[in-house]
Amino acid sequence: MRAAVITQFNQPWELKTLPDPRPQPGQVVIKIHASGMCGTDLHVHHGRFGLTPPVVAGHEPVGEIVELGAGVTDLRVGDRVGVHWSQKGCGRCRTCQSGNQYACAKAQSWMNIGGGNSELMLAWASGCALLPEGLAYEAAAPIFCAGYTVMSGLRNADPKPGERVAVLGLGGLGHLALQLSCAVGLETWAITGQANKTAELKSMGAHEVLVGGKEPGTAMRDAGGFDVILSTTNSAVQIASAFGGLREGGRMVNMGVADGPIAINPLLLMMGQRQLRGSSQDERRDLIEALEFVAAGKVKPRLEVYPLIQVNEVRARLEAGQVRYRAVLTHG
Ligand SMILES: [Zn+2]
Ligand SMILES: [Zn+2]
Repeated sequence: MRAAVITQFNQPWELKTLPDPRPQPGQVVIKIHASGMCGTDLHVHHGRFGLTPPVVAGHEPVGEIVELGAGVTDLRVGDRVGVHWSQKGCGRCRTCQSGNQYACAKAQSWMNIGGGNSELMLAWASGCALLPEGLAYEAAAPIFCAGYTVMSGLRNADPKPGERVAVLGLGGLGHLALQLSCAVGLETWAITGQANKTAELKSMGAHEVLVGGKEPGTAMRDAGGFDVILSTTNSAVQIASAFGGLREGGRMVNMGVADGPIAINPLLLMMGQRQLRGSSQDERRDLIEALEFVAAGKVKPRLEVYPLIQVNEVRARLEAGQVRYRAVLTHG
């Protein structure tokens, strides 16, 4: 099988032919049709994940099951599936025993058995989710990390009818957060640093677009403040500033890997029962719901689609902040 392999960190990924994978008991082999490229892949590229090359990245993979390992009873050959990051817990720790295997600290992921930037991918059956009928592979791929993450973030913000939501950072995650928040009926504003995204963000349903700059908190406060802030930016300075845009009782949910410590004003945190929360991919129903919103046409991922052979060009575009809004690699 052909795969894009990271043979050395910070060097171009190499297209190589690797042996076809064979499934262990409990695993499946998937013929990959599409695989999204996430900001996290840049951290992998730069060697910040503690992995040892060779590495095949890609944690937004979707495709068709072509082989079942022993003991796989629920999935079938021919099923259209995607694979989420955390595929299978150790089964024995307190978290697994409590019923949340995907939150296990020792969970198996693409880091253990290979990612989706390859023609064929191994996955644990428990890490596969069926795609809704009719949902295109390219549109489904970004839901397996970006869409799942922001759906969990939205739920973990506990939004109530009539509340006002801000989405901070409008890239791969943020543009899906904006649309999901609109889809559940919340007044949702987009807070972006890029004025040239305003018309597009409005077309995605943004009630208003604030061009916030490096310190968006003042503009957010001046606009009347927000009950919920869904933050997907990596900028610790922006996160800290935006926290000042919360109304009393407001909840800010951080989903980005901040580029430094987040210096929240302690008085703002204390007064008015404001809360800073963190969220990543949580209950699997969040993934399933996000897939259903896309299948129903209520959320439309904005994609740049490239063949796998252009993987290095795509990675460079992502690093330069040029991708609008998610890049997906196709294999076929
Ligand atoms: Zn990701
Ligand atoms: Zn465990």
